[in-house]
Amino acid sequence: MPKYQTLQQIQAALKAGDITLEAIVQYYLDQIKSSELLNIYIEVYAEEALSRARTLDAQYQQSPEKVGRLYGMVISHKDVICYEGHRVSAASKILDGFESIYSATAIERLLNEDAIIIGRVNCDEFAMGSSNETSYYGPTRNAADPERVPGGSSGASAVAVQADTCLVSLGSDTGGSVRQPASFCGVIGMKPSYGRISRYGLLAYASSFDQIGILAHSIEDTALVLEIMSGADEFDATVSQKEVPAYSQQLHFEGKTRIAYIESALQHPSLDTAVRQNAEELIQLLKNEGHTVEGVDFDLLDYIIPAYYVLTTAEASSNLSRYDGIRYGYRSTNADDLLSTYKKSRTEGFGKEVKRRIMLGTFVLSSGYYDAYYSKAQKVRRLIQERTAAIFQDYDFILLPAAPGPAWQLGAKMEDPVEMYLADIFTVQANMAGIPAICLPTGTTPDGLPIGMQLMAPRFEESKLLAFAKTIL
Ligand code: GLN
Repeated sequence: MPKYQTLQQIQAALKAGDITLEAIVQYYLDQIKSSELLNIYIEVYAEEALSRARTLDAQYQQSPEKVGRLYGMVISHKDVICYEGHRVSAASKILDGFESIYSATAIERLLNEDAIIIGRVNCDEFAMGSSNETSYYGPTRNAADPERVPGGSSGASAVAVQADTCLVSLGSDTGGSVRQPASFCGVIGMKPSYGRISRYGLLAYASSFDQIGILAHSIEDTALVLEIMSGADEFDATVSQKEVPAYSQQLHFEGKTRIAYIESALQHPSLDTAVRQNAEELIQLLKNEGHTVEGVDFDLLDYIIPAYYVLTTAEASSNLSRYDGIRYGYRSTNADDLLSTYKKSRTEGFGKEVKRRIMLGTFVLSSGYYDAYYSKAQKVRRLIQERTAAIFQDYDFILLPAAPGPAWQLGAKMEDPVEMYLADIFTVQANMAGIPAICLPTGTTPDGLPIGMQLMAPRFEESKLLAFAKTIL
C-alpha cells in the first residue's frame, strides 16, 4: 500500500500541519533508496527536490493561499521528457551526456503549479519496446515480482508509482507505453487524445502517435495533472486549440452507459485465462449495475500491429536521423572523417532494437516499396479510425484488456521481436485512432500478478472517460 494515495490526502496532512513537504520528499527519497534493486531511476534530483520543498514549506507558512494547485505533489519523469538544465537520454547511449536546454511544456506547467520533480526514470531506448529491457541502463524490474518485466516502454514510470517512490509519474504512449506497464504494475495509466498535451520537449519516436501520459494511484490525481498539462501551446503545431475542461471538477458520473467490448479480442488465442476471466467479471459487474455491455465485431484486430509497426518505424527512421554524432550527445572517438563519424557514432550509439526499427522504417519508405507498405498502412490506419468511430456511434466506451497477459519473466521475449510486438495488440487501436484510453487495475492472476482493463472514449471525451473510470475503481 502506498503511504499516500492522492494529492488530496497529502494536502490535508500539510494543511493540518501533520507533516512538511520536506518530510514528504524525504519519504520518497528513502523509498527510492530502498527500491534501488528495481533500477527505476536513472537520476535522482535529491538535493534540488529537498531544497524546493523547503522553499515551498516556507512560502506556505507565510501565505498558504499563494501556493499552486500541485503543492505537495512529487513527480518523476520518463527519460524522454526534457527538463531544463537536466540530462535527458531516451535511455540511449547516443544521447550520453546531453543536457536539456529547455523544459517540455508539460513539465513547465507542472512546475508553475508547484509540483516537485524528484528524478528521471528509466524506459526502453527511445520508447521502443514493451518490457523496459532495451534500455542502455539495463532493465527495470517489476515490484510485484522482480524476476518479471514491468512492461514498457514507460516501465520505470509504472514501477516508480507502484513502489511508492513518487505520487505521479509522466510517461509517453505511442502504442501503449503508458497503459501496458500500468496493467503489469497495478497502477492507473492514461493516454489522452492525440493533441491534448503539447509534445514540445518530448523526444520524438513517431510524432503522429506520441502523447505524454500519466501514471498514478488515483483518478483524481490523473485528472488534475492532465488538466494542468493540457491545452494550446505555440511550440507545438499539432496540439489542439480546444479548451481544456476542468477534468478534476467533473469526476461525478451518473446514469447508465453503453459499452462495447471487442468480441474477437476476448476470444483471441493469445489471451491469458486469468485476463479473460477478469474481463468477463468486469463485464458482468457493469451489466449488474445497469449498463448496456455488448460484444461488437472488429475484424481489423490482426492488422493493427503490422500497420502500426510500418508507420511508427517509418516516422522513427526520419525522427532519429538527427542523432548524427555531431549535434547531440555521443560521438565516436575512432572516426577520422565526417561520414565515418556519422556511421560509427550511430553504430556505437544506438542499441539493437532502435537500429532494427531505423532499418525497417528506411525500408518501408524507400522508393518502390513506399506504396506497398507505407501507403497501405496509412489506409489501414484510416480504416481503423473509421471503424472505431462507427462503434462510438452506438456506444460511449470501448472496453478491452490492456494486454493479452500479465508481466512475463525478464528475457522471455527478447529473442523474438515479433512476439514482443504482439504484446501491444490491445493498446495500439487508441493510438491509431487518436482517442483517449485509460488502464485501470482490476485484479490479479492466481500468482498475484496485476491485471489491467482498458477503457477508450471518443476523441476529447477525457472528462467522461475519467468520471466513468472512477465508478469502476
Ligand atoms: N511497445 C510499443 C513499441 O515498441 C509501444 C511503445 C510506446 O508506446 N512508446 O512501439
